[in-house]
Amino acid sequence: MSLDGPYNDQNIFAKIVRGEMPAVKLYEDRDVLAFMDVFPQARGHCLVVSKTSKARNLLEVEPDVLCTVMADVQRVARAVVAALNPDGVIITQFNGSAAGQTVFHLHVHIIPRWADQPMKGHSHGKMADLDELKVLAEQIAAQIT
Ligand code: 5GP
Repeated sequence: MSLDGPYNDQNIFAKIVRGEMPAVKLYEDRDVLAFMDVFPQARGHCLVVSKTSKARNLLEVEPDVLCTVMADVQRVARAVVAALNPDGVIITQFNGSAAGQTVFHLHVHIIPRWADQPMKGHSHGKMADLDELKVLAEQIAAQIT
């Protein structure tokens, strides 16, 4: 999908936000939802999405919504570090399929990195064990302040 085009409210993240599809959630408020990536590139890979915007990507999103989302990205990333003690954290976000975007609802990736562990490729991860994701989500959620 190119950078241009309409927002499709049948995308998987819109369904998760509406509660029509399951997700292993770790944080939610009126504006933002954070949940575990079900095809993680690394242990603890999670996503932060806007619950209010119909933006498909960063270029479209309302600046105030972007500020809210990024403040919660920082909050969740701090919690990931506190819970999992990685050596580093990747914060990433893709705009358009040519850039690697596969779900067209604004979202930001938080991916912990350990120096001695290779990271799986974007969209190449195998589906995670849901029980393991739930444990990770509980550990991370417990560190959110
Ligand atoms: P994008 O490629 O758009 O930047 O990122 C989409 C992300 O959503 C990918 O990392 C992919 O693993 C993840 N993803 C795709 N489908 C689902 C799903 O049904 N549930 C969850 N939790 N994550 C998903």
